Amino acid sequence: KWAYVLELLEPEVNEVTFETWFEPLKFSSIDENAGILYILCDTEFAISTINNRYMHLLEGYTEAVFKNKYKIKLLLEGSVQENKKETPKNSFSTTSTVNEEFDKELISNPKYTFDNFVVGSNNEYAHAAALAVAENPAKNFNPLYLYSESGLGKTHLMYAICNHVMEHYKDKKVLYVTSEMFTNEIISAIKTEKTKEFRDKYRQMDVLLIDDVQFFEGKEQTQEELFNTFNYLYDNNKQLVFSSDRPPKELKNLDERLTSRFGWKIVADIKKPNYETRMAILSKKAEQENLEIDDNIETVLSMIAERVTTNVRELEGAFTNLYTMAVMLGKKITPEFARENLQNIFTDDQKDINVETIKRVVSKYFNISVKDIEGRKRSRNISHPRQIAMYLTREFTDLSLPNIGKAFGGKDHTTVLHAYEKISEELKNDNVTKTYVNELTSRIKI
Ligand code: ADP
Ligand code: MG
Repeated sequence: KWAYVLELLEPEVNEVTFETWFEPLKFSSIDENAGILYILCDTEFAISTINNRYMHLLEGYTEAVFKNKYKIKLLLEGSVQENKKETPKNSFSTTSTVNEEFDKELISNPKYTFDNFVVGSNNEYAHAAALAVAENPAKNFNPLYLYSESGLGKTHLMYAICNHVMEHYKDKKVLYVTSEMFTNEIISAIKTEKTKEFRDKYRQMDVLLIDDVQFFEGKEQTQEELFNTFNYLYDNNKQLVFSSDRPPKELKNLDERLTSRFGWKIVADIKKPNYETRMAILSKKAEQENLEIDDNIETVLSMIAERVTTNVRELEGAFTNLYTMAVMLGKKITPEFARENLQNIFTDDQKDINVETIKRVVSKYFNISVKDIEGRKRSRNISHPRQIAMYLTREFTDLSLPNIGKAFGGKDHTTVLHAYEKISEELKNDNVTKTYVNELTSRIKI
């Protein structure tokens, strides 16, 4: 029956897609009680790609052929999960949860490609190195080592390399694994006396990517196997890519053994994105959801970008939560809606109002640059916003007049006082200024 599912699928997708993703799939078993069909896959990457892109297709045809709705669960051939299913007595419960966690992460983050990776000054070098590796595997940048704190794009870049190589070098074998997956495979291979199969599998790869290698620390036997694989591939001029949460030198026991023979060719770190990059990432995300970026959305995105500063995963998460909530409730995404529904990121807002935020909000509102706000130009379209910004700073922060002056490009405290008094006066009888200040206040506060 499974063969028939594949037969039906074949004309539905293009040839390469079929050969790459569907042909290698093997039927494993059916769990009638749970309504699950277990299918074997030859790489972890295939599993995530099929889960992300082709699952609906696969489940659709399965239903048609089996005349029953099944959930399809893809398992890595020879993996702990597969063995666990067949010989439940011999399995580690911890290992399978690790893999399930991992599956979930991949499913919730579809499509990791170079196209949807936003390049900023924080990740420019890592991006360039990853792209060079993807375009010319094992040419110059071998091995490549990426590191950063969590949630800044390492896994994204590694997947982008996979996608790119598979698309442009159809004959090359690519394998992405996390260090946990690698470790689990070894443990299971040793238990089932299949270490030869394990080695053969890894040694036929043209591009091998291992994510989060810091988890190899303290795992002696796994490290041993890793070095052997590593040396073999390197000697045969195959591309290796590693990622970690720290620089090589800080990997206790690992760095020296891994690099004793060749040293790291390229070590690239990813830093935290700046405000502009965070905005670009959010805009891209909104674009992917086909959201039209009107003033409301733009304001909401900047509210998020100003507050979630250290982790792209959380940045996207805040946006995704909000978007999901809006769709569910059938509401429009507005600053008020964001404030109500993203309470976690707005909690310590009072502390957050600082002169930098004010300068940014004001300059954006009047469509001038922060430099202008801090500068000395006297034309009214610049000096008036500057005075308003000084007024707002005095209202919303604890800064003294001299310190406000300093924050505005080193102006005298009398200039600040003058601005403050002038705007206070205007607020009494000038409706335009009043509107400006009200709108700006709500933007600064939310
Ligand atoms: P890491 O592996 O470093 O912990 P990930 O690669 O898992 O981080 O990135 C976390 C999330 O942030 C992913 O959804 C990823 O797509 C996204 N992300 C990170 N950096 C960027 C970027 N520069 N452009 C677009 N998305 C990004
Ligand atoms: Mg990662």
